[in-house]
Amino acid sequence: MVQLYVPLNFMGFVYREIKLAVADLEAMFTLLEKDPEIEDRPGAKPLVVSGGTIRFENVSFHYDPDRQILKDVSFEAPAGKTIAIVGQTGAGKSTLSRLLFRFYDVQGGRITIDGQDIRDVTQGSLRDAVGMVPQDTVLFNDTIRYNIRYGRWDATDAEVEEAARLAQIDDFIRDLPAGYETQVGERGLKLSGGEKQRVAIARTILKGPPLLILDEATSALDSATEKDIQDALARVSVGRTTLVIAHRLSTIVAADEILVMDAGRIAERGTHEALIAANGLYAGLWARQRRADEVREELARVVDED
Ligand code: ATP
Repeated sequence: MVQLYVPLNFMGFVYREIKLAVADLEAMFTLLEKDPEIEDRPGAKPLVVSGGTIRFENVSFHYDPDRQILKDVSFEAPAGKTIAIVGQTGAGKSTLSRLLFRFYDVQGGRITIDGQDIRDVTQGSLRDAVGMVPQDTVLFNDTIRYNIRYGRWDATDAEVEEAARLAQIDDFIRDLPAGYETQVGERGLKLSGGEKQRVAIARTILKGPPLLILDEATSALDSATEKDIQDALARVSVGRTTLVIAHRLSTIVAADEILVMDAGRIAERGTHEALIAANGLYAGLWARQRRADEVREELARVVDED
C-alpha cells in the first residue's frame, strides 16, 4: 500500500510540475506572441521616437486571404494625444494594435511612428517604445513584486511600489498576508480581471514607454473597480500617445478623437460631442450602452433592497 502510494504521489507531483511549466510556457508565448515570418530587415535601425506621432496610412490587412479584416484604414494619433477605437465585436479593433506592435505586417499601406515605417526599424526598439495593457494579463507563477517588475527588471523595490500605487493596486497588495511577496498565478493567489489589469498598468508605468495601447477588458467590472482602473489609465496616458480600444464608451468621452470601426473600415470619426450630434453609429452605440447601464443599475438597486 505504502509502496503504491509513494509512486502515485510522486507522479502527481511530476504532473503538477509539468502542468505549471506548461502554464509558464504558454504565458511566455502569449507575451512574446509573434509571427516567425516577421524579421528585422537587413540594416534595420532602432526606432527614434521624437514626439511619438503614430500614423496608419491606407492600411489593409487579412489573416486569411479570403477574408479582408482591415480596409484602407487611415488615421493619425498626434504626439501625446489619446485616440479611442470603438466598434462592434470583430470589427478589427485589436487587429490595429497587433499591427502597431508588429505581430503581423500590413499587406497594403504603411504604419509610421514619427515618420519611420515600422517595418524599417528593429522589432526590439519598436516593442521597447510601445507599452501594451492587454485585455487579459498573463501572470507568471511568482510573487506579485516579480510580476510588476517584469515591466523593467532593474527597477528598485521602491519604484515597483510607486508604480503599484499609481496603478491603484498598492493598498490591495499591502493587505495581503505576504504583501508584495505573495505568490500569484496558477500556483498562488488568483487575481480578478480588474486586479490583473492593474498589475499590467503598474508594469507599463515602470516601463515608461512613449506610446501606449490600452485594450480595455470586455468583462463587466463593478463601478468602484472601473473607476480605479480609469483613474490609473488616465495617469499612465498623460503625455504619451495613446490608443485606447474601448468597450465601455463612458471611458473615452474625453478622448481627442474617437474612431468608429465597422467591418474593417473607419465608419465615423470625431470627438464624443461631434459624434453624438452626428446621430450615426456612435450615437446608437452610446444610447444602447446608456440603456444597458440603466438596467444594470436598476437591477443592482432591486438586489440591494432585498
Ligand atoms: P473584440 O471587440 O471582440 O475584441 P475586435 O474588433 O478587436 O473584436 P479583432 O480581434 O481585431 O476584432 O478581429 C477582427 C476579425 O479578425 C475577427 O473576425 C476575428 O475573428 C478575426 N481574427 C482575429 N485574429 C485572427 C487570427 N489570428 N486568425 C484569423 N482570424 C483572426
